[in-house]
Parts: sequence; structure tokens; C-alpha cells
Amino acid sequence: MSKKEKFYLTTAIPYANASPHIGFALELLYTDVMARYQRLLGKDVYFLTGADEHGQKILKTAKEKGMGVVDFAAQNSAEFVNLADQWNISNNDFIRTTEERHMSRAQEFWKAAEKSGDIYKKKYSGLYCVGCEAYKTEKDLVDGKCPDHNKEPELIEEENYFFKLSKYQEPLEFLFEKNKDFVYPQSRYNEMYNILKSGLEDISISRSKEKLPWGIPVPGDETQVMYVWFDALTNYVTALGYSDDEKLLKKYWPADAHVIGKEINRFHSLMWPAMLMSAGLELPKQIAAHGWMTAEGQKMSKSIGNVINPFEIITRYPLESVRYFLMREIPFDNDGDYSENKFKDRFNADLANGLGNLTNRVLSMVVKYCDGKVPKVQNKNDELIKYLSDEIWPSYRKNMDVWRFDRALETVSKFITHCDQMISDKKPWSMAKEGKMNEVSDLLYHLCESLRHIAVMIWPVMPETSEKILTQLGLDVAKENAKSLDELQSWVELTVGNKIGELQPLFPRLEK
Ligand SMILES: [Zn+2]
Repeated sequence: MSKKEKFYLTTAIPYANASPHIGFALELLYTDVMARYQRLLGKDVYFLTGADEHGQKILKTAKEKGMGVVDFAAQNSAEFVNLADQWNISNNDFIRTTEERHMSRAQEFWKAAEKSGDIYKKKYSGLYCVGCEAYKTEKDLVDGKCPDHNKEPELIEEENYFFKLSKYQEPLEFLFEKNKDFVYPQSRYNEMYNILKSGLEDISISRSKEKLPWGIPVPGDETQVMYVWFDALTNYVTALGYSDDEKLLKKYWPADAHVIGKEINRFHSLMWPAMLMSAGLELPKQIAAHGWMTAEGQKMSKSIGNVINPFEIITRYPLESVRYFLMREIPFDNDGDYSENKFKDRFNADLANGLGNLTNRVLSMVVKYCDGKVPKVQNKNDELIKYLSDEIWPSYRKNMDVWRFDRALETVSKFITHCDQMISDKKPWSMAKEGKMNEVSDLLYHLCESLRHIAVMIWPVMPETSEKILTQLGLDVAKENAKSLDELQSWVELTVGNKIGELQPLFPRLEK
């Protein structure tokens, strides 16, 4: 038996100082769709997400709310776990940075970097933005304020530990030159490569415990606490048991993809690889940085009142239609917009009229003309089979492989339209009136098999809808799930004779 190829992917760990934002739901979703697609390819997938619970901001927010920081962090993390659950995210693990398994291993990681001679102590003064949890240079500021937080940074002077990022200048350049896909998409790669070429400086990786009592102690120095990135980034290996229980680490590391928002790309594409080299670990294969989501054409903000709550939206619309919309409308490599109108248009056009209607139309005809059983075929439609195998599937897979779920779904829509066109052209109801029952059977057989292909293609994005279609086609979902994609995407006659399951509308139209 050949060993399954592995695929390890992660989201960033969101900062648990507030309730989950739709932007993180989007990140979970991109990662989930890739995870499910890789499982469809037959790989042994491990999908990690979690929450970052340390840092000054979370301590501050907890105090403002009159809560203990431990309880506050736990309460917020639970909301992220709940989000993943409600959005049907197929993660294998959820790591919290306050867990013992993370803290002790993050300290081991620190010790490994220290052993490589990459950590040293230095007096430091700088402008610090609490909102960003980062030091700012003058050129980062607009009118003396942090542009992201519209606040003046504080001048902080202290003695901190530094990580020798500059030492990894050349190895990082080599990495970027050798692997042009290291950062996806290309535009984000270019941004990082330019930053790299301008020269890396060593970075501060600790705070005094006085200033930051809420964090992981620096090994061997109780007066200092790890700075947020040196703590948070290591979650990708601590969750796999780095340093003391490395079974999962040996199996899944290096990561095949770290999925992140573009705003934290620098830490993932430059700092993290350097940290890994320092600790003697392999480098991830790809950093995939997605764009941001706007609502009704504007950046989401409380003052505009256009903030989308990821829990609320799925009470108004079926979850799978929301998953579909986001994956169809927000290309991974760019920003994208959500609007109520656009949502309803997509829903009605692609899901109610497209997928839902085709399924219902085909299966009702099977019930009406073929005694509710997938009919036998006399003449195969080679043109259709070739179109599916030579155009639709390659286009679908090519796009799924490189995070372009929007284009993969566009390909599915194209095929649905093709099937609809076959029905309008051949008019099975007229053929039936003329008694051409063999031709009706041939057409419906091809349409049933086409529906099976569509169900496979939409599975990563809409697993439940996919399974509903398979069930209505009289297929055993568990058996279908056990097949490889190569098997699933070949043209078969397995459905012949299957009794059509109970018909149910997949996506009833939305009123505008
Ligand atoms: Zn800031």
C-alpha cells in the first residue's frame, strides 16, 4: 500500500481580544476549501487553526471590561471555536497560545534559536503602537499617528532581547530567488521581496515583564516576556508537538501552506522562515496571503454600521450559500466586496436558478419518464464526455490547485449552463410525446451523470449540498467519499438503475 501524501495547512491565529470578524471567517473558509480539496485529492490533510491570547492589548481590554484576563481570553477563544463549528470548518486542531503545550514548546523554540547564537540583549527605545503591538518608525506614521489606529505611539525605552534577523538576509534571498511561489500571490511575493532587498534589521522579541505581564516568560530570564510574534508564530509547530512529542511534527511538517491576511505577511514570509532556520527546522512551502473584504463598497466599520457579523449572516441565509458567495465573489489574490444585492443576485442566479433548478429539473424528469430510476444509456454523447474531461475538469483543478476558488466555481457554473442548454435544445418533453423514449433515456442518463460530476466539484465549498445531490441520485455518500478524485472525475455508469431519492429543492429563491 502506498503511503498517502500529506498536506499540512494553517490559518493565522486571530487575536482573541474581541469577537470574531467576518474577515477571519473568510480566512477559515479559504483554508477549509483547500483542506477539503486536498482530501478529495486523496491526501492526508492536517488543518490547524487557533487563537492568540497573549499581549498587551488583550490585557488592556480585559481590564476595561472588568474581567480577569484568563477568563476574558477563554471566553473569546470559545467564540472562535464556535465560529469554526458553525461554519462547518474541518480543522483537525485548535490551539490556544495560553495552553501549557504551546507555552513550554515556544520556550524550547526560543532556546533553540538562542543555542544558534541568534538571540542577544540590547537597550532599545522606540515609538510603540499598542494597537499594532509593534514599534513604528517615523515613516510608518501619518501626522505623527499610527494610520491603522489613528493614535500617537508611545515612546518606550527598555532593554529587550533581539533576534538576529539580519543574519538570515542571504538565506532568505536565496529562498525567494529559488522559490517564486514561496509567497502567493505574485503581488505579495513582490512586496516581500522588495522589503527583503532593502535590508533586514534585527528585531526585538521580548518586553519587560513590568510592561507586559501577560505572556510567555523568556527562558532563563524571569524579568522578560516573549514578544507576541515570537510566541504566536511558533504555534504552527507547537501544535504538532515540537520538542517533546514530535509524532505529528515528523508526519506533517513542513507546512504546505500558511494561510494569512496580507497585513501580517511580513512576519510570515520573512521573520518566520528566519526563526525556523535558526531553530533548525524545515521551511514552509508557501505563504498564501489573501486580501480583505469590504461591505457595500466600503471598509467595514462600526461608525458606518456595515460590519458583517459572521454568526448573524448565517442565521439569515443558508450557510452553504454564504460559503458559496464568498468563495465565488472574493478572489484569493485580491480584495472583494459583499453587498446584500450582490448576494441575492448570486444566490438566485447561481444557486436557485442554476444548480438547484438543474438538479430538480433533471430528477423530476427521471421520476416522470423513467420510473424514478437512472436510465440505461444506448448512445453515449462523446462530445459531452470529452468536454467534461478535457475542458471542465482541467480548468476546475488548475484553479483549485492555486487558490482560485472563484474561477473553479465559475467553471462549474459554465458546465451547469451547458447542461441547461442541452435540455432546452433537446426538449425531452417533446421527445417523450413523440414516443422517442430511448432518446429521453439517453439524455437523462447523461444529465444524471453530469449532476454527479457537479456534486463532486462543489464538495469543497458546499459539502452538504453536494451530499444532498449524491443522495438524490441514489448514491451512497460514504462510498463516494471513499473514492479518489481520479475515480470520481471519470465518466462512469454507476448510477444506472439507481432509484432517485426524495426530491427536495436545494436553494429556494430569495425575494429581493
Ligand atoms: Zn497601530
